[in-house]
Amino acid sequence: MPISTQGSMSIGDVDGAPLIDLHSHTDRSDGSTAPEDLVRLAIRESIEALAITDHDTLAGYDAALPAAADCGLELICAVELSTRLQEQTVPGKRAPSVHLLGYWLLSPPSVEFRWWLESQQQSRRQRNVKLVAKLRQLGVGITLQDAEVYGRTQVGRPHFARVLLDKGYVSSMQEAFDVYLADEARAAVERDEPSLEDGIRRITESGGMASLAHPVRLPQSGPDLVNLLDRLVAVGLQGFEVFHSDHSPADTQLYLDLARRFDLIPTGGTDFHGENKPRIRLGTGIDSNISLPYSLLENMREKCAAKQQRMSGTV
Ligand code: AMP
Ligand code: FE
Ligand code: FE
Ligand code: ZN
Repeated sequence: MPISTQGSMSIGDVDGAPLIDLHSHTDRSDGSTAPEDLVRLAIRESIEALAITDHDTLAGYDAALPAAADCGLELICAVELSTRLQEQTVPGKRAPSVHLLGYWLLSPPSVEFRWWLESQQQSRRQRNVKLVAKLRQLGVGITLQDAEVYGRTQVGRPHFARVLLDKGYVSSMQEAFDVYLADEARAAVERDEPSLEDGIRRITESGGMASLAHPVRLPQSGPDLVNLLDRLVAVGLQGFEVFHSDHSPADTQLYLDLARRFDLIPTGGTDFHGENKPRIRLGTGIDSNISLPYSLLENMREKCAAKQQRMSGTV
């Protein structure tokens, strides 16, 4: 059944059938599960196709490939980019952060794209050095090495939050963000992040399909979201993450309607982070609120192939 423009896609209608999960994280970004273990977990959970969408890195995907080949799991090459909206939505505050998924369904990402990802990680590393200095000025006695224990390949703010919690400076990860790490908090450090449009262009130019992640977290809704989608489709946005474990059934219906209206390809996944977000289960989300059939992936692949044919002028 094609999912995007016809047919009703109801979540939870594939009891017993193999599932897919197109949004998951390993310990190469801010998940807690090693890539090889995530592959084994996917097999245990009867998942047929899995996309590892680590933040700004393909390291988890690369590391999981041999295990996936051994187990017969279809592993989709993917990433979740951290981008910024170009405009501030609250005057005087930083432009909001927006997550953008990239899926390479027909060919692997270009070497240029991999180099560019490497530059993103470099910018995060520079930010981290400044962040530690700022925290220490505030009397928080932590080192970069403390955070590297948790974020082995790539240290991000969630790893710092974990250290602050472990060392007793805060009583929850959220408090670590609210007091020290959030964009406007005491130890905030800006880093160079691509604009949302730049992220879409980079994914598209490297042969991928860009999908706007968990739209429920966007600052825009209603007519503002419609305007945003108009603008993003014009620069090449192809997908919209209709199915996500943070979405209520009403959210999902709204995003499905918007996907139809803009001819965007519905994508979806749980956003599994292992022990770092323990309520989310691979393949089935929070309290089984996700259940995605293989036809969702087939639909993505068909639409990408059709686009490629149009671009090469053969249709
Ligand atoms: P980084 O890419 O290292 O700047 O870390 C960004 C990540 O930190 C995001 O993907 C969120 O998981 C988390 N994060 C950022 N801001 C907040 C916030 N205000 N509250 C909770 N988590 C946040
Ligand atoms: Fe994350
Ligand atoms: Fe995200
Ligand atoms: Zn994610």
